[in-house]
Amino acid sequence: MQKTLFPGYSIGTDAYEDIRNVCPVYGKKAAVIGGKRALAAAQDKILAAAEAAGLEIIGPFWYGGEASVENIERLEPMVADADMIFAVGGGKAIDTCKVLAHRTNRPFFTFPTIASTCAACTSLGILYHPDGSLREYSFSKIPPNHIFIDPQIIADAPEQYLWAGIGDTMAKHYECTVSSRNDTPAHSDAMGIALSTMCAAPMLRWGKQALEDCRAHTVTPALTEVILGIIVSTGLVSNFVQVDYTTGLAHAVYNGFTILKSMEEHHHLHGEVVAYGILVLLTVDKQFEERDRVFAFNRAMGLPTQLADIHATPADLDAVADKALQGIDVRVYPYMVTKEMIINAIMELETYNKTQA
Ligand SMILES: [Zn+2]
Repeated sequence: MQKTLFPGYSIGTDAYEDIRNVCPVYGKKAAVIGGKRALAAAQDKILAAAEAAGLEIIGPFWYGGEASVENIERLEPMVADADMIFAVGGGKAIDTCKVLAHRTNRPFFTFPTIASTCAACTSLGILYHPDGSLREYSFSKIPPNHIFIDPQIIADAPEQYLWAGIGDTMAKHYECTVSSRNDTPAHSDAMGIALSTMCAAPMLRWGKQALEDCRAHTVTPALTEVILGIIVSTGLVSNFVQVDYTTGLAHAVYNGFTILKSMEEHHHLHGEVVAYGILVLLTVDKQFEERDRVFAFNRAMGLPTQLADIHATPADLDAVADKALQGIDVRVYPYMVTKEMIINAIMELETYNKTQA
């Protein structure tokens, strides 16, 4: 049986008021769980809207700081009386609630307070060990029942989440179109691949303006477009498309660079390094016109275009390329990706940077 579900969403500074139109059909008691900063920013508004909807609130509870099985098990007795779960925050808080909801068979609703990943829209949960290292992907076909997005709360959050989120969002388009190129994708995959256009073009068009608006804490049409691109467009692609197509060379390159200590020392964000990975992907794929477009966009956005921007050097590349090819990211690809292809593309980019001074 094929099963693909679509979450609905509400966006606007009055989005939470939609709780009364969406949630009461699922029961009377909602457990509210989130990140500390997220709850501080959103809980008053959520609780007021839930009360207006006639819901009884359990919590709010802090999710525990890591999307770990340990935290999920700790939270399980706290939601024993709840009919539904409200997940508030960024990717890790939301994924904690998501996997908790899946395990306990409860409907869940998401309230993203930053726009850095599509976690608020997806059925997939990413779990970590308590030390922060990756543990596993928790696969499911059940996305949130509804997403409530207040763009003012996102505009008031630090802008680097949006900045990095834009890079990760654009990767979805380039990765799934290249990864699936030699296949004949079935309906759900084909739908998602077609939708992935909405992960790149609106970012290139609105990204710079949206970043400036976020910096000014002002909700504008550009910022709203980019938030919907990061959370909803990308989340729908993730829900529609099989994992071999949603991964690709931009993420393989990111994984490669994670072996460098300098990544962590300089706090380079996932989406930031993935944005550089897109340039490598497009160079390896010889899509030079598109590569030059994304290059100019990265430059304008302050996203990386060369090794120095992510505190790496040519001497790192042998080990980086080895690590890049160890994961599943380019397992399904229209051609065999080799270490040499990655290193040559990175060095070609170094030269291209010099011509674009
Ligand atoms: Zn990513």
